[in-house]
Amino acid sequence: MTRPTRIEGRGPWLREAITPGEFDAPELEGDLKADICIVGGGLAGLWTAIEIKRQAHANGMATDVAIVEADICGGGASGRNSGMVLSQWAKFAALEAFCGTDGAIRLGQDFGTSADNLEKFCAEQGIDAEFRRDGWIWGATCPRHVGSWSGIVSGLAKHDLRPFREVSKDEIARQTGSTSFLSGIHDPTAATIHPGKLVRGIRRAALKFGVRIYENSPMTRLERSSPPVVRTAKGSIKAQRVVLTMNAWSLAIPELRSAILVIASDDAVTESVPELLEKLGYKAKPLMGDSQLFVTGFRTTGNHRFNPGITGGVIGFGTVGFGNGAGDRFEGKSMREDVIRACVQRGYPALAELPFADSWYGPIDRTRSGLPLFGALPTHPEIFYGYGFSGNGVATTPIAGRILAALALGQRDEYSSCGLVRPPERWLPPEPIRYVGAHMVRAAIKRKDALDHQSRNPGLIVRGLAGLAPGGITTSRVTKN
Ligand SMILES: Cc1cc2nc3c(=O)[nH]c(=O)nc-3n(C[C@H](O)[C@H](O)[C@H](O)COP(=O)(O)OP(=O)(O)OC[C@H]3O[C@@H](n4cnc5c(N)ncnc54)[C@H](O)[C@@H]3O)c2cc1C
Repeated sequence: MTRPTRIEGRGPWLREAITPGEFDAPELEGDLKADICIVGGGLAGLWTAIEIKRQAHANGMATDVAIVEADICGGGASGRNSGMVLSQWAKFAALEAFCGTDGAIRLGQDFGTSADNLEKFCAEQGIDAEFRRDGWIWGATCPRHVGSWSGIVSGLAKHDLRPFREVSKDEIARQTGSTSFLSGIHDPTAATIHPGKLVRGIRRAALKFGVRIYENSPMTRLERSSPPVVRTAKGSIKAQRVVLTMNAWSLAIPELRSAILVIASDDAVTESVPELLEKLGYKAKPLMGDSQLFVTGFRTTGNHRFNPGITGGVIGFGTVGFGNGAGDRFEGKSMREDVIRACVQRGYPALAELPFADSWYGPIDRTRSGLPLFGALPTHPEIFYGYGFSGNGVATTPIAGRILAALALGQRDEYSSCGLVRPPERWLPPEPIRYVGAHMVRAAIKRKDALDHQSRNPGLIVRGLAGLAPGGITTSRVTKN
């Protein structure tokens, strides 16, 4: 059964991207078969499906791929992120720990050219995702944060990699109109996109590639038989291979649970204010991030709204069931508009009084290192997983698609054997300890971020707990996983 695609109640990106009169893909009904069944139709699932189709086509095969999606494709984080397409050079040390130097350089270059490839893919497929080559400034909003990037820059320089250029307070002020940033580094390759238009465009492309999509079809049971079976309320798919790309909802898979902490990020947008942004000198580029452990980011949209975003929000509870629980906890308006406003006050005081026209939030699947995980379930080699994008999925999911396609198609290549293919780490304790512990760590991080801005030292406990922060946008933690 198909139904008109719901627009109300969704965030602004999807509201702008869904054309009135559009219909959802059908629900899964009856007992069907597929070569490969992907559970989760966000960016990771869609790129995986497209990549499998591309590979199969190149090898003269007719691989039948089906996506089973609980909501609509893009209804999760992929349709409500901040649209920042960032290279992963800021995580080089962690990449190197998993992949070795050569592997880290190769993957770093892959992630670094993701923006180019996205632009090309959108042009080929006729997707107007409002791609803008804005560049990214990673800066410091207090003296303590100046040089947060130094270790990363010097680590990269040892390998003759120089993706960043130092920028001064004056240059940042000239480029952005914000005088709050004391210094920073600039990556010219970064881009911004319209997340709703991107993910819905990729969904259309997947359908054109011949991917079968079933929406409003939450998986209710994963039968670990051989071959595995994905069951929904009204149907099932028996597939040679199953690929799980469920982001935060991976918590429902016991084997995957211990490697991610689910914690929301929150975004807001103002009304369209082109004259004000023009006056400030921030009508477009660059996008910006500070050096807090709970990062704040700023960008502008194609229709000239100011879009601040913050991390460190609602914490997911780790024993949710399929298709509910974590999902329900991340719908609707942000409950942290006051925190977003405080962050704007600090990073962009000239825009602090602007009212927010809308706000939203969504789940982030944070791993300890900030890098995603791929592989097969330890006891079920036909069931693969790809998750843990840690708030950095826009540039990394196209590469995730290549890795997961190679794994699902049984190919031995640089992707299926890269160091990001690894078992889920047993990093986090079971509930309810994890939930309570996560709140303590979150409180400590907030305290440390606040004290840094007052040039005060945190005590031993705050320092220790804040040191347990999972990876995010800029972390370079060398801890494995
Ligand atoms: C507010 C916010 C801002 C962000 N900003 C950025 C940014 O600027 N740049 C960046 O790179 N990244 C950003 N991210 C992260 C980025 O959005 C994600 O990393 C990326 O979208 C992950 O894609 P995914 O396919 O893994 O997840 P999702 O898009 O969440 O897809 C997972 C899908 O699985 C489905 N699902 C779950 N359970 C089931 C089930 N039982 N059966 C069937 N389907 C199921 C869900 O409905 C969902 O559609 C942000 C995220 C948020 C929330």
